[in-house]
Amino acid sequence: MLGFCEKCRDMVEYYVREKVMTKNIKGKEVNYKGKVAYCDECKSEIFVAEIRDYNLMKLDEAFREEEDLITVSEIELILEKYDIGKRPLSLLLGWGELTLTRYLDGDIPTKQYSDTLKEILNNPYYMKELLEKNKGKIKDIAYRKTSVAIADAKADGLFNIDSINKIDNIVKYLLVNSSDITPLQQQAQSQAPLLGYQVPSQPSMSSDRYSSTLIQKYVRREMLMNSPLFEEWVSEERKEAVRDTNKKRIIETLELKFDFISKNTREYIESIEDDNIINRLFEKAIKTVSVEDFEKLLEKVKNLQ
Ligand SMILES: [Zn+2]
Repeated sequence: MLGFCEKCRDMVEYYVREKVMTKNIKGKEVNYKGKVAYCDECKSEIFVAEIRDYNLMKLDEAFREEEDLITVSEIELILEKYDIGKRPLSLLLGWGELTLTRYLDGDIPTKQYSDTLKEILNNPYYMKELLEKNKGKIKDIAYRKTSVAIADAKADGLFNIDSINKIDNIVKYLLVNSSDITPLQQQAQSQAPLLGYQVPSQPSMSSDRYSSTLIQKYVRREMLMNSPLFEEWVSEERKEAVRDTNKKRIIETLELKFDFISKNTREYIESIEDDNIINRLFEKAIKTVSVEDFEKLLEKVKNLQ
């Protein structure tokens, strides 16, 4: 490779070495592993544009890691996951239309904006809330595309959360009810020794012998999703999620109005399972003029149950 050496005043061959570098950003020392180019002839350091770019990228990565900030590729992942453009997403967030464009170009977000983006990336329910609240700000077609993507993301999420027992039940159900499973079962058995698992020859399963990964290998995702048990489970999870969101709203509303609510009140609200009561309490939380009034109301609810 050729670069210009100031000393030799000529284009020269150069070699590259790694070097731990330190840079002060916003009053913080950030260490990162960069690269330095040296002239083959006189061994002095030379400037190479690609190496400067590489070092800037490494510095950026190190700073984001240090501050626990979202990366550019994670932001790209958000757009892909929710099938949304950078401008519509900026608008949904109530940010400037070009904010995400700047972040994708490498501008470093504030901690607060970064945390919001991370929450979106990891939590489709939060994204759903945001979308519903601000759908007026984006085009209808964008709204519909993103709604579909969110539903997919939620379904995917069900495989990541700790639901091995539920999956296990569905797998049992499928084993009993479907002959399609056999080739896959054999496939899993032939793969299992490599993974170090004991696979029973009988189609009986228990979660202590199976990791969720193996169960996922065992049964294709579409098979799970077509199972009536899965349908039931998803709608159950959905109801629970909506209920949790509504409870959170009640608590947030009270805290917004009165700064503070007691641990008992919070815990009691969190324990309510009746959707009608939760909805009514939300209205009451908005209207109530004091925490005490609201707590009296909660007492009434307790006595009713
Ligand atoms: Zn030189």
